[in-house]
Amino acid sequence: MTHPAVRGSIRPEKDTFLGAENPFESMMARFDEAAHHLDLEPGLRKVLRHPEKQLIVAIPIQRDNGDVEVFTGYRVLYNTARGPAKGGIRFDLQVTLDEVKALAAWMTWKCAVVNLPFGGSKGGVVCDPSSMSIGELERLTRRYTSCIIDMLGPDSDVPAPDVNTNERMMAWIMDTYSMHKRHTVTAVVTGKPIAMGGSLGRREATGRGCMIVTREALKQLKLPIEGTRVVVQGFGNVGSISAQLMQQQGMKILAVSDKDGGIYNKNGLDILDVMRHVKEQKVLRTYKGGDHISNTELLALDTDVLVPAALENVITDDNAGKIRARIICEGANGPTSADADAILQDAGILVIPDILANAGGVTVSYFEWVQDRGGFFWDEETVNSRLEKIMVSSYQECSAMAARKNLSMRIAAYMVAIDRVAAVHRLRGMYA
Ligand code: NAD
Repeated sequence: MTHPAVRGSIRPEKDTFLGAENPFESMMARFDEAAHHLDLEPGLRKVLRHPEKQLIVAIPIQRDNGDVEVFTGYRVLYNTARGPAKGGIRFDLQVTLDEVKALAAWMTWKCAVVNLPFGGSKGGVVCDPSSMSIGELERLTRRYTSCIIDMLGPDSDVPAPDVNTNERMMAWIMDTYSMHKRHTVTAVVTGKPIAMGGSLGRREATGRGCMIVTREALKQLKLPIEGTRVVVQGFGNVGSISAQLMQQQGMKILAVSDKDGGIYNKNGLDILDVMRHVKEQKVLRTYKGGDHISNTELLALDTDVLVPAALENVITDDNAGKIRARIICEGANGPTSADADAILQDAGILVIPDILANAGGVTVSYFEWVQDRGGFFWDEETVNSRLEKIMVSSYQECSAMAARKNLSMRIAAYMVAIDRVAAVHRLRGMYA
């Protein structure tokens, strides 16, 4: 029987769990395929299959009622050959070390695919932020920051927001780090409020990037932008902004969803109105402008574009055969399992892979880091036009690689990325 002091602690056994759809294995399956097509040297393959550093921390905090709770936190630096590690922090009950490792690896490939001078990292805390007060979240964020502080720094590892973390938490991270360093260090974290060194355009950057690559894919397939039907899963930062900007381009958003389900309107939803509703009511399901559908039904809708922008592994070999979209733009990280890739490819669906599709966020995070270090801030037009240039050229590089090697965009994007990371390893050589 569980000891009363342990009962209620947050999933201490999680790291021993290896599921069939383990996100790290899913990432590795793609890595191995790309490495094979690149004919990567066996030694480099071994180096790139291992995270450089993995830290597991116990984070004690005092709850508002006076009880002490201990949360488990992780920070993984996957690869820093190309520069400081870059990667968000996620607060969620589903966080596992394998998920954080996979996300850190994805950050490495993502930064390389858009050619940023960064490596990749990720962090997470196993917690349910919806059950915590703002004071508890602040104590958790600050204590977690101090637990991982030896890894952090503008030249070593730079966090950002991810699922269930936001600019307010980034401000606490910046403040905690700065208090330890005895001077203000804005560039230690990105996704900060504008007033304290954040970048204009950062909040919208991931969704903007999704819109830009979807537009490029439509052009490549010679499909019109006006009237293109879009379905979006997840209505948080990425999903809602993608939907809003795609609608602005003339696309028709048929359905959107959050964790409780979705709303569907075959004539198209008014996304600004849905956003207003969610801001006021906090939930999507009470919106009256469409029919209610489940997340399972949403994925199988007849549409031109599907944007999974919620969590990993929502498209698997169980449901991939039911997808009717022509293009999938992966707003989320790892929404498609490795088993589902072949099914989608056989069905002729163009998948714009996560490491490319959602790289807009880290690109503007890079702009934020550059602006903080230079102490000189750009207007929004400059941010957006520089983002546009990077997303378009990265899309074209991946699409050219896919055409040249007759491979999926996903494997092509991995090849572009791994080739860049491997090239730096070869130049740097092996320190011994
Ligand atoms: P968020 O917390 O703002 O929003 C997540 C949304 O997904 C919410 O609407 C939530 O209700 C919904 N959701 C959660 N579980 C769901 C489920 N089972 N089915 C359907 N919907 C569900 O998070 P976000 O910042 O928008 O991130 C979404 C995804 O995009 C994550 O995979 C994240 O890693 C990735 N991503 C985010 C950024 C960024 O800049 N925010 C950058 C790159 C990648």
